[in-house]
Amino acid sequence: MDVDKHAEELASTLGVDKQEAKEDLESLLQYSVPLEEAKQSVRRKHSDGDGSETDAQPESLPLDEITTGLNNVTVTVRVLTVGTRRIQYQGDEQTIREGRLGDGTGTISYTAWQDFGFEAGDSLVVGNAGVREWEGEPELNLGASTSVAMADEPVDTDATVGGDSDLIDLSPGDRGRNIEVTVEEVERRTIDGRDGETEILSGVLADDTARLPFTDWDPHDAVETGSSCRIEDVYIREYRGSPSINVSEFSTVTPLSEPVEATDSAPELSLAAAVDSGGLFDVEVVANVLEVRDGSGLIERCPECGRVIQNDQCRSHGAVDGEDDLRIKAILDDGTETVTAIIGTELTEEIYGGGVEAAKEAARDAMDKAVVADAIREELVGDSYRVRGSLSIDEYGANLTVEAFEPADDDPAARATAVLAGVRQ
Ligand SMILES: [Zn+2]
Repeated sequence: MDVDKHAEELASTLGVDKQEAKEDLESLLQYSVPLEEAKQSVRRKHSDGDGSETDAQPESLPLDEITTGLNNVTVTVRVLTVGTRRIQYQGDEQTIREGRLGDGTGTISYTAWQDFGFEAGDSLVVGNAGVREWEGEPELNLGASTSVAMADEPVDTDATVGGDSDLIDLSPGDRGRNIEVTVEEVERRTIDGRDGETEILSGVLADDTARLPFTDWDPHDAVETGSSCRIEDVYIREYRGSPSINVSEFSTVTPLSEPVEATDSAPELSLAAAVDSGGLFDVEVVANVLEVRDGSGLIERCPECGRVIQNDQCRSHGAVDGEDDLRIKAILDDGTETVTAIIGTELTEEIYGGGVEAAKEAARDAMDKAVVADAIREELVGDSYRVRGSLSIDEYGANLTVEAFEPADDDPAARATAVLAGVRQ
């Protein structure tokens, strides 16, 4: 590109020194600003300003003004998080950096297709970044034509700098996060990966705010049952409708000498808040049983896949010899939202007051299987329960897979009495 020629043209139309016009132009081109845009910026600087700026720079956009309609932008930002991940891109393995950037107006996520060497906390001027849509939001794409320079001054942001997070605050899409946890459960498994059989670890991590499932794709020795560790650079995916922690080859695991306290209770939420969260691995709700649905009580499962079947026909396995089982599908309602609670064999036995054999006998006596569901309905409907389990949300609605189920002790009458007692003191 003949910068001289363009500088000369600008110098003559603007009536400024050619060397000055050239320096302005060059400093813009160094940010990979397209030539026409750079010339426009130089014209603007010399026509309405007093020319006091020493370096012409493309104007930085505030993050809250970035929309997916823009092509290339310049931003002045603070790096909030940096995560590293290996992905398959157009048939090749590629290592990318990803995370969030912030300024005084908001935050935005980014993907960097090469290592620019920046770290969480750095203040940067990022020039000629692409804008694309990711999960319905604009995201910055930093590629070969993007320039990254240190900003002259620290960039202010209200967002938290660095990836340190409590488990309760993690949601799918989070990247470059650091956690301090106790390993509650871990299991070594062999899976059929891209490169043949691979060993992975999976289980449950906990801190004093929540418990979450995890997968370690590159087994780290320090991840063992009962150990406490700090894990840096994890990313969060959705697994069966709730957030799941992913530990990778880029994560560092450091054993901690002080044990991390694990919560033994689940966060108690309204059903509306739980559903709004998009799924939770471990949550507690207090709600009324509105209805016990069909498909509850004495049911039959496919011996191959465990699916509930009717008339000895499995959707996947055709004609099979069904196995008897007990379960409950109940509609819970707490006045804010309704979900379907799925209660497994053991808890159903407790609620029904008998096992599969007793249920079969009752069905034989009545010559009707429905008596079992009827007895359960009689027991549950209209009463309030404290229910703990894993909430997942799919296209059919919200399902709570129940781990614990007990009558709510804080029924409205008891609460009212407690309030009155308080008043009298
Ligand atoms: Zn089956």
